Amino acid sequence: MYRKSAIELRDLFLEKKLTAVEITTYFLNRIEKYDRELKCYINVLSKRALNTAKKLDEKLKNNERVGRLAAIPIAIKDNIHILDEITTCASQFLTNYRAPFNSTLVEILESEGAIILGKTNLDEFAMGSSCEDSSFFPTKNPWNLSCVPGGSSGGSTASVSARLTPIGFGSDTGGSVRQPSAFCSVVGYKPSYGRVSRYGLVAFGSSLDQIGPIATNAKDIGLIMEAIGKHCKKDSTSLNLPQEIYLENMLESFKNIKIGVPFHFLENLNPSIRKNFDASLEILKQNGAEIIDINLDILKYSIAVYYVIATAEASTNLARFDGIRYGKRSKNAKTLNDIYKLSREEGFGEEVKKRIMLGTYVLSSGYKNAYYKKAQKVRTMIIKAFADAFSTCDFVCTPATPNTCFEFDSIKNPIDMYRQDLFTVPANIAGIPAISIPSGFDKDNKPIAFQMFAPQLHDVRLVQAASLFEKKINLKLKIPPLFDKE
Ligand code: GLN
Repeated sequence: MYRKSAIELRDLFLEKKLTAVEITTYFLNRIEKYDRELKCYINVLSKRALNTAKKLDEKLKNNERVGRLAAIPIAIKDNIHILDEITTCASQFLTNYRAPFNSTLVEILESEGAIILGKTNLDEFAMGSSCEDSSFFPTKNPWNLSCVPGGSSGGSTASVSARLTPIGFGSDTGGSVRQPSAFCSVVGYKPSYGRVSRYGLVAFGSSLDQIGPIATNAKDIGLIMEAIGKHCKKDSTSLNLPQEIYLENMLESFKNIKIGVPFHFLENLNPSIRKNFDASLEILKQNGAEIIDINLDILKYSIAVYYVIATAEASTNLARFDGIRYGKRSKNAKTLNDIYKLSREEGFGEEVKKRIMLGTYVLSSGYKNAYYKKAQKVRTMIIKAFADAFSTCDFVCTPATPNTCFEFDSIKNPIDMYRQDLFTVPANIAGIPAISIPSGFDKDNKPIAFQMFAPQLHDVRLVQAASLFEKKINLKLKIPPLFDKE
């Protein structure tokens, strides 16, 4: 069963060849068996999952509507609210925070018949690129257990990669869905800004955050987007547009499609990433695409812009964690000021504190023109550079990551960690959709991925192009050998 796609599992359920309880029990058993080693899950919601499954089986028996995601198991990153369950954000601060409402995402998933298996690990408050900054434990990469799965949505991606679930969800502020997907050889999607509701996602960088699905193949991403890509009244940044169909009129070839590649910006690629990227371009070319050179040199500033804007927004978003309304209150506090100060000091980890301080600094009256305002201006230039590029091509392509997965504790310098996001942050800065698709392995059998960007709201075409690319590249090895068994 673990080799089946989400679409196949749903169809087996609809054809009454498998019950929802069978599917759910099967994946819960896989989690039980393998997650002791991998540590993808902070909280497994077995009871809830089995209850949902039972109800679904009843509904199917009575010919009631079961929903378009019926019986599909799903893992949710632990910064997205599920009513009555704890949302930890992998932080000591929130170990006691029970969500009083459902996120719109979970609301939709459950109304469409999906089965939520559990909450997955992340870098604390989604700040990081390796899952090592979870305050609980690091998650392992199923392809190489001495390596990180990437981050921050490392728990969901590793879980999909090891087939502990066919679908996972993450949040992508600067690459947290796509980078770990690349490290774990699964498909990770960041929709256009505003396409998927963020209501009930704990905010990190509000102008950058998007919830995104993780799957074993691009068609499953399409299925999920058909369900979740819709307007939400509770999110003021949600776009009021009709839902779209992803899985009809699929793209058949790359003929007449222009692929823009910022060759100059990609000059100093790591050799194994380069080789794989060139091979991917060759596949597109052989299938009719025209590859053109575009100028996106401005992207060399994207990391700097991202870390000013993301930390500025994080510092204000995290101000709500004061030990009064949310989270743990310090036991050592004697005065009101103590409550704020000690609760934050004891509750937040090092990376989170660093970001709050950086963000407060770039927003402070003496420095905001030099940093925050300057970053906003360069952000506008990046948006414009993409608009210019898309006036000459349909998709822009880059590698998904500058390197393959790395060993635990091997990156000591924070700037080197921030550089992990080099190819992913531009999509968040510009608000455009981007997808990371497995494209091979390096000589040590570590996964490599290809990334495609499309203009804002061209989500359907982008997922379809990814699906066609995936078909043409036809990777032989799809499941990490250690987990390719019952
Ligand atoms: N790695 C990036 C960061 O640390 C992106 C995180 C994310 O997308 N949530 O901020």
